[in-house]
Amino acid sequence: MTRPDFDAVVAGAGHNGLIAACYLARSGMDVLVVEARDTVGGLASTVDALGARVNICMCDHVMIRSTPIIEELDLVAQGLTYVDVDPHHLYLSGDPTAAWFGFHDVEQTAESLAIVHPGAAAGYRRLMDRALPVARLVLDLACEVPTPGASLKALGRHGVSAVSTMLGWARRSALDVLASAGADDVAGMLLAGAPSTWGLPPRHPRTGLAVLSAAVRHAVMPGRPVGGSGALSGSIASRLASVGGKVRCGVSVESVLVESRRVRGVGLSDGSVIEAPVVVCAADPRRLYTEWLAGDPPAWLEAKPPEGFEAKLDVVLDRLPTYLGLDAERHGVTDPLVPTGVVSPGVDGMASAHATMLGGEMATDTVMYANWPSVTDRSLVAEGEHLLGLEVLFTPYGLRGGWDSSAVAERWLERFARVMDPGFLDSVRRWRLVSPVDYESGFGLSRGFVPSFAGGAVSALLGRPRELTRYRASVDGLYVTGGATFPGAGIWGASGRNAASVVLADRA
Ligand SMILES: Cc1cc2nc3c(=O)[nH]c(=O)nc-3n(C[C@H](O)[C@H](O)[C@H](O)COP(=O)(O)OP(=O)(O)OC[C@H]3O[C@@H](n4cnc5c(N)ncnc54)[C@H](O)[C@@H]3O)c2cc1C
Repeated sequence: MTRPDFDAVVAGAGHNGLIAACYLARSGMDVLVVEARDTVGGLASTVDALGARVNICMCDHVMIRSTPIIEELDLVAQGLTYVDVDPHHLYLSGDPTAAWFGFHDVEQTAESLAIVHPGAAAGYRRLMDRALPVARLVLDLACEVPTPGASLKALGRHGVSAVSTMLGWARRSALDVLASAGADDVAGMLLAGAPSTWGLPPRHPRTGLAVLSAAVRHAVMPGRPVGGSGALSGSIASRLASVGGKVRCGVSVESVLVESRRVRGVGLSDGSVIEAPVVVCAADPRRLYTEWLAGDPPAWLEAKPPEGFEAKLDVVLDRLPTYLGLDAERHGVTDPLVPTGVVSPGVDGMASAHATMLGGEMATDTVMYANWPSVTDRSLVAEGEHLLGLEVLFTPYGLRGGWDSSAVAERWLERFARVMDPGFLDSVRRWRLVSPVDYESGFGLSRGFVPSFAGGAVSALLGRPRELTRYRASVDGLYVTGGATFPGAGIWGASGRNAASVVLADRA
């Protein structure tokens, strides 16, 4: 038998693929990462656009800071620096004087809430009393392959109450969870915005654990990498190079080669073949099962593929605007453009935006997350300019009339302008829209859907589906990682680290 070209090929250089490759390479394996785009990072990239350095996803990282990855891969030595973001969110409502801030500290957040909604603070404290132990449990569970043995140990570390709360909330709606904790209506409305990042409205069953997005930020300090999200990926890539790993950009994996039920390598878009006894798919697994591998896709892959529900507007401005009517000093905040501003149309508004999306239309009043990366990092933009990243939710993949028209983006800017000072629209110099269709064509995401592990902790513990929770695919030597696998989407990296540990255990 001829010697393979590499010990392992990783398909996709998103942060999960790069992390998996790093752990394999530093264990002595000869690893090649193949990336379809011209640069590494996937959604965790920062690219040249609009005459600035623009993040593809939003640039606040939380979960990865709860893992040992940054330390184990010594990413600080590769130039990775985080700026802590505290407060991390500014929750805006229709009334600008009623806005409040989410801080890393629970009490500081409750106090900010109490200034504008005195009745809501006690409910927030009660909610976080229950949510914080669950958030810590979820973050802990994520750091290992969720086998029954590992998971039971983690469950034991966090106690029965956190486990039963997690299981109970997983079945309920986010709104229901808030109501049961006695959280006031206003806090409820704003926190209930969290399920929108899953493409669902807050009354939807099984969105209860979305309320953990606030608790996770009390458990872990949110941070922004200097140089943008891509600085994380860049630091992992340079660590990979330092342990002998190689990256080939600008060429796509088109097939996974299998012989006698064992992986043999990958076929690439330039017609070449790379032989390797281990292949790790770190791209959308739908592509793996419907395009790269021969045979029927597994039963867990829904016949109707999920569709993307988020878009991003990148905007360059010629001055820093201010939030209309906001008295940030009252909340002890000197720069209200550091946190991400959350614009929410309320519980009924989210239900309506979701229904409008399902009908192929775009609601004007929808959930928006506004991030101002150049406030904390001047290296991203030219002197005299500023950057806004506006993430917009409930955006249909198949927008009626298509995504090419600029009218949608202008409507979003006008909607967002309602929470900003009157000169905001005049300060806009350039913008670009990244729609679900662009995520499909630019990042290989089927129908613009950002893959996310949909099962909860119980599915993970039971190993359902096997491929997404144990990282081994249906063919010997073939593995999967990325946001579609446990623990799910986000800048987390736990999936890449877990998948590598399975590969290494199988080789031992
Ligand atoms: C608008 C938006 C905002 C977000 N904001 C945040 C945030 O603030 N915080 C957060 O934690 N998360 C955020 N996320 C989610 C987060 O960005 C993703 O979940 C995460 O980056 C996914 O990483 P990954 O490595 O699993 O996959 P990806 O980043 O998708 O990487 C997969 C890679 O595979 C490559 N690829 C695809 N097909 C092929 C092929 N055939 N051959 C070779 N390579 C291929 C792709 O080009 C890509 O580079 C956001 C996402 C979006 C869309």
